[in-house]
Amino acid sequence: MKYTISYQKPHRHLIDISLQVEEHSGDILIVQLPAWRPGRYELGNFAKNIQKFSVAGTDGKPLSYRKVSKDSWEIDTPGQSEVTVSYSYYGAVLDAGSTFMDESMLYMNPVNCCMFVPSRINETCEIRFENLPQDYTIACGMKKTSGHVMEAENFHELADSPLIASNTLVHRTFDVEDTEIHIWIQGSVSIQMEKFIEDIRKYSIAQSLSFGGIPCEEYHYLFHFAPYKAHHGVEHHNSTVILMGPGSEFSHPEPYNELLAISSHEFYHLWNVKRIRPADMWPYDYTRENYSSLGYIYEGVTTYYGDYYLLRSGVITDEDYFDEFSRDVQKHFDNFGRYHYSVAQSSFDTWLDGYVPGIPNRKVSIYTEGMLAAFILDVWLMRDSNQQYSLDDVMLRLYRDFALKGKGYTEADYKNIIESLAGTSYSGYFEDFIHGRGKVETELPAALDFIGCELIKEDARYVFEHEYGFKLQGNSKYVVTSVVPDSPADRAGLAKDDELISANLVEFHGSNSAAEIFEDFGGGVVNLVVSSSNRLREVILTPCSVKYYPLYRVKRKATPTDEQLHNFNLWRSR
Ligand SMILES: [Zn+2]
Repeated sequence: MKYTISYQKPHRHLIDISLQVEEHSGDILIVQLPAWRPGRYELGNFAKNIQKFSVAGTDGKPLSYRKVSKDSWEIDTPGQSEVTVSYSYYGAVLDAGSTFMDESMLYMNPVNCCMFVPSRINETCEIRFENLPQDYTIACGMKKTSGHVMEAENFHELADSPLIASNTLVHRTFDVEDTEIHIWIQGSVSIQMEKFIEDIRKYSIAQSLSFGGIPCEEYHYLFHFAPYKAHHGVEHHNSTVILMGPGSEFSHPEPYNELLAISSHEFYHLWNVKRIRPADMWPYDYTRENYSSLGYIYEGVTTYYGDYYLLRSGVITDEDYFDEFSRDVQKHFDNFGRYHYSVAQSSFDTWLDGYVPGIPNRKVSIYTEGMLAAFILDVWLMRDSNQQYSLDDVMLRLYRDFALKGKGYTEADYKNIIESLAGTSYSGYFEDFIHGRGKVETELPAALDFIGCELIKEDARYVFEHEYGFKLQGNSKYVVTSVVPDSPADRAGLAKDDELISANLVEFHGSNSAAEIFEDFGGGVVNLVVSSSNRLREVILTPCSVKYYPLYRVKRKATPTDEQLHNFNLWRSR
């Protein structure tokens, strides 16, 4: 399969792509554009970015064709041994999984924009850039055969090999064991590069130790730094794309730690999901939804380890680690979808609403709930195996017994490995935390206690949160963003998206902040006027004894027992 990439006017964002199919036989050829991209488990419908589709035969004359699905084409090819499919792809979105072109760069995720022949998906792919400026460098995990020509073993590798071509790429390399790590930076960033490299080296070594080596000869970090707020990463088989911003802030500790956390998370995916992958997605089927209930492993376990390896390798402090842990715990408690949908159900439904807030109280996050379930499992395994095993061993077994043997795993496989290490049944764990609801909060304090940590609960910051049970957004126009089910706000009839107009005749506008207005009422009965879709309504808030939206914080105990301290040190320094 030969792909040729060119473009004429970068400001139009149109990339001209042609796919040359040689040695074709048969009366019909089907070509397909992926409907989604691995890493984001929802339909991307990339074919909406295609225009000027045409097909030529062996002699260069047009061939007739018809669309047979939203992203596949059936071409009439009697007597044609060579077929060339040409089209333009509109690349104007810049995120960690998209395709984008302008005067400064060509950034491609081939899974968005390269068509393939489903019956010949395993054939070698050559990708040739025809008119890239001579001073452009290409950052990519794919093998370069010459200047601006690259080669992938098959379409799966091509689809999994994003690239940035530009003349402003900053490039650094260093070795971690036998693997050459490449750092590619596009965009302006303020960062202490030597420290960044040293920190990446530390967590890479720690992760590598757990799996007996890094599973690729080269690994490429493709960083985009944007001048605006951005936080997005996507994993690949020997690379990752990470978009972060604003680039001017990474000399400050908090954004810098976030950058490390996402980098460590994506690196862990090198094993977990790029190699240790659910059987549901082995191999990836690009034409349709690949449903899986195992998001609590491929994203949840990865979220747990992304931060945890930073702690273990000494890149971040205990305090930094538990601050991040606390944010996940807070997200858990602020989401009442946890009483409605399990993490397994939410994983299956990422294809439906996994990447949007969705309707209130419907679902949970596979990242947050999966991370908490992974932490509880890790601690329980330590407890049940007399400190002999941990979640590290489960992941290593999945890697050796499934990934390295070229097959995917199921939930039963995961459970069998856990039970063989723990020496006891974990049916209760799966019933409660994976397929059940509302159990994390009853078990989390005990799991934390095992390693000498505790969960601290405090009142929410604002009176309207802790007394009435709703959250607001805005600073002069206040809109309700969430309401606790059965709270005074809910009982009074307040709903998401309602706009506050007045409270006890005090209007919400200008310098009247909602926090101060509610503070003045001291938690008593409040007569609220709200606008719901431009219709004014009155709701009367009557407080009760319950405190809503408490704040949670995880921290180490000031005086742990010897046993707790021993457990903490074991967990901390694995
Ligand atoms: Zn991830």
